[in-house]
Amino acid sequence: MQRKIPFGKPILGEDELEGIQNVLKTGILVHGKETSRFEEEFAKRVGVKYAIAVSSCTAGLHLALFSLKIGIGDKVAVPAMSHVATAHVVELQGATPVFIDIDPITGNMDPKKLEQESLKNNFKAIIPVHYLGLPCEMDEINRISSKSNSIVIEDCALALDSEYENIKAGALGLCGAFSFYPVKHMTSIEGGMVTTNDELLAKLIRKKRAFGYNKSLGERSRPGLYDVDELGFNYRMNEIEAAVGLSQIKRLNDHLLIRKRNYNILFNKLNKIRGITLFPSSHIKAKSSFYCFNIVLPIDGSLNRDKLQDQLKLLGIGTSIHYPQAIPLFSYYKDKYNYKKGDFPITEWFSNQLISLPIAAHVTEEDANYIADKAHQLLTSDLITN
Ligand SMILES: *Cc1c(COP(=O)(O)O)cnc(C)c1O
Repeated sequence: MQRKIPFGKPILGEDELEGIQNVLKTGILVHGKETSRFEEEFAKRVGVKYAIAVSSCTAGLHLALFSLKIGIGDKVAVPAMSHVATAHVVELQGATPVFIDIDPITGNMDPKKLEQESLKNNFKAIIPVHYLGLPCEMDEINRISSKSNSIVIEDCALALDSEYENIKAGALGLCGAFSFYPVKHMTSIEGGMVTTNDELLAKLIRKKRAFGYNKSLGERSRPGLYDVDELGFNYRMNEIEAAVGLSQIKRLNDHLLIRKRNYNILFNKLNKIRGITLFPSSHIKAKSSFYCFNIVLPIDGSLNRDKLQDQLKLLGIGTSIHYPQAIPLFSYYKDKYNYKKGDFPITEWFSNQLISLPIAAHVTEEDANYIADKAHQLLTSDLITN
C-alpha cells in the first residue's frame, strides 16, 4: 500500500470538538473565559507572568513593536533566514529591518555578525528567530542588546517548549511571540500568543490588541461606554480558537516525545552521509523542540533539491522548505533596499539547497523509519544528482 505522510497535520480529537461545541452553545464568541484560561495555561507552560492571546504570531510581533513605539527611523535586526513575517512587521511600523546572516551549524542568527552590524547601526530592537526550534545563542544576543540598549523580541513561532539554560523560549527576551498556525507545534486554527514578564508591556499589548479602548469589557461602569486614548488594532483571538488551543496544550508533552523520537530516527540514519548537513538537537545551552527535520544538500549544487523533493513525493513523503528565500532577496526587500545575490551566503545556500522532512506527531515510528530509509537511499543514489 502506498504511504501518504504529509509534511504537517494537526492532531485534533474529541476534546477539541467538545470545546468548540461548548463555545457555540454559550454563544460567547469573543471576550470570554476560554481566552483568559488559555492565556493562564500558556503563561504557566512558558514560565512567564503574562500571556496575551492574539490572532496570529504576526499580529503578536507587530503589536510588540507598535506598543514599544518602534517606528520611522528605527533599525531592527532580523535574521535573513526566517518567515517573511519577521521582517514584514518591522516594515509595517515604518522601521527598517537590517538582515543578519545565519550560523551554518544552527541556522540561527550569527551573534558575531549581529555584533558587527550592531556597531554600525543603532538597533532599537533585535528579533531572534529560534530556527526549527533550536534556541539562538541568547547569552550573546542579550549581551549585545544590553550593550547597544536595544530590546529583544523573540520570534518563537517554531520554538514552543524549546529551552535555553532550562528557561523556555518566550521567556528569554523582553517578550516573545508564538504561532498556532495549523502545522506549528500546536494549533488554535489561526492564532498566536505574546509572552512577557513585563507588566507595563503586557498591559499595553492587551489594550492595543483591541482598538486602544481605555477599559476592557469587564471594567466598564456602563455597558458600551469607553474612551479611546490611543491607537490600536483588532488583533484579538476568538473563543473557539482559544478552546481549541486549551485542548492542544494538553497534548504537548506527548507530542514533544514523538517529535524527539522521530528526529532521532532520522538523525541516526542520515548523519553519516558525506556532504550533507543536518541540524543538531542541542547546541551549547540550547535544547530543540524539534519542529521539523532539515537536510541541507551540498553548497556545490552536486545534488538537486527539486529531484529529491519529487522522488520523495512519489514515495508518499510530504516535504516543505524552511525557508525558500533569504528574506532580503524576496522582490519586495530586494527592490526596496537593493540587496543582491551573495549578500547572505549561508542563508542563500540553505534556502536553495534545504528540504524539510516531517517529524511531527502525525508521523508514526514506522513512518519515521520509512522516511529515514527512503531519504538515505535517495541521498546515496544517482537519482538526485545534477
Ligand atoms: C509561521 C511563522 C510566523 C507567522 O506565524 P503566523 O501565526 O502565521 O502569523 C512567524 N515567524 C516564523 C519564524 C514562522 O515560522
